[in-house]
Amino acid sequence: MLKLYNTLSRSKKLFRPIKGKNVGLYSCGPTVYNYAHIGNLRTYVFVDILKKILAYHGYKIRHVMNITDVGHLTSDADIGEDKLLLAALREKRSVWDIASYYTDVFKKNISDLHIASPDIWCKATDHIPQQIELIKKLEKGGHTYRISDGIYFDTATFKNYTTLARLKLSDQKAGARVEENKEKRNPWDFALWKFSPTLESGVKREMEWESPWGVGFPGWHIECSAMSTFYLGQPFDIHTGGIDHISIHHTNEIAQSEAAYKKQMARFWVHAEFLVIDNARMGKSEGNFITLQHIIDRGFDPLDYRFFCFSAHYRSQLTFSWDALASAREGRLHLESQVAHISKEAGTGAVSSGMRALFGVYEKKFLAATADDLNMPKTLSVLFSFLTRINKSKKEMTPAEYGYAYKKILAWDAIFGLRLGEEKSEQKIPKYVMQLFHQRTEARKQKKWKHADALRIEIQRAGFSVEDTQEGPTITRI
Ligand code: AMP
Ligand code: ZN
Repeated sequence: MLKLYNTLSRSKKLFRPIKGKNVGLYSCGPTVYNYAHIGNLRTYVFVDILKKILAYHGYKIRHVMNITDVGHLTSDADIGEDKLLLAALREKRSVWDIASYYTDVFKKNISDLHIASPDIWCKATDHIPQQIELIKKLEKGGHTYRISDGIYFDTATFKNYTTLARLKLSDQKAGARVEENKEKRNPWDFALWKFSPTLESGVKREMEWESPWGVGFPGWHIECSAMSTFYLGQPFDIHTGGIDHISIHHTNEIAQSEAAYKKQMARFWVHAEFLVIDNARMGKSEGNFITLQHIIDRGFDPLDYRFFCFSAHYRSQLTFSWDALASAREGRLHLESQVAHISKEAGTGAVSSGMRALFGVYEKKFLAATADDLNMPKTLSVLFSFLTRINKSKKEMTPAEYGYAYKKILAWDAIFGLRLGEEKSEQKIPKYVMQLFHQRTEARKQKKWKHADALRIEIQRAGFSVEDTQEGPTITRI
């Protein structure tokens, strides 16, 4: 009885897949012209939780995520410069290098955060034929028109254009959502295929393809329509993204897919709220950009950030600060040590019926919290109250019952993804901190006291303390 908030109806709805226990899930992936910031990564932690909760409830998921590696312009209104091209100029590399480098870093971020990889990663540049086919279908259906810079979708030909975002188009004209392009029939029409610059302009794009309309590249929205249908069919079960996608990207995806196939694109549209910092949305162009590497460099474990994400429901804004992250780290380490204690006491054998009944009550609470639109703060509080309850009963608990409790915690960790059954993080010291530690030892040998002190302070800032014992310096987590 899993309920999810569906943006289409603006309400929590009972989730039932189209086909038995199989779930087709599509997530808008990153645009790979820069590092993902931890705001982007919050959205992917949310997708991971969605997948893991679905799996816990017995569903089998086929998850598809795209990599936008082409043609995403600096403006959502199909004008402006190509973000990848700007990055290539900035970094003096080819656009292909840019896309491949930032894709690799993104995948590493995902794995560091213990986010399960999608079953299918699909790159826009690997699916140009599918995008061209879809545009041809739209053209045949009378949904497109040609202007000087490309082929556009005529939104007036799709009557449900405003459904997802509940847009009032009369308000849009004055709003910032669309920019003026005098040739467009309606201000909110959007590009399906953009033409490459003409030979006379002297500009040559690195990424361009032949098409029935001329050499060019696809508009941003078309890739998700083409690839979701290609891999999942239509309709599929769940489509995810950040809330910024509701009014443009997802609205346009729906227009393309539903106009082409005359049926619903996805049953559930699930959107994650923003990570904010100093009261502003964290954004690639907002200059308030923190990456996972910044967090690691400050001595945090990526799982501290994962745990931090559980402190708010995915549909609420989450405010980032270093202090809040430090509290999350403390909370996570405390959790680890409680679980380590249970693991030490764990044995095998018969479990009393009273204990079984008690554990059953917690299992019900746990399931209910996850089923309530993926309520992670509530789910986590069930785990904490379970630990408190075990602690209270410690005098009467047998090793077998500890073993039973430990197994339950590990089963729940299939959702939390905090590696609760593995080597404890207190014992793990980041490489970067170890380097500082060795540099300090060396500085002391050379009697560079000031430098050694500065290094000690840096190590402390990363959350570790150094002590000089008779056997030499030692390092421990504060
Ligand atoms: P992009 O790489 O810009 O396409 O963004 C990747 C994902 O991150 C999209 O689903 C966005 O909706 C989401 N996103 C962008 N900014 C934030 C933010 N500050 N907090 C949470 N998610 C975000
Ligand atoms: Zn998309």
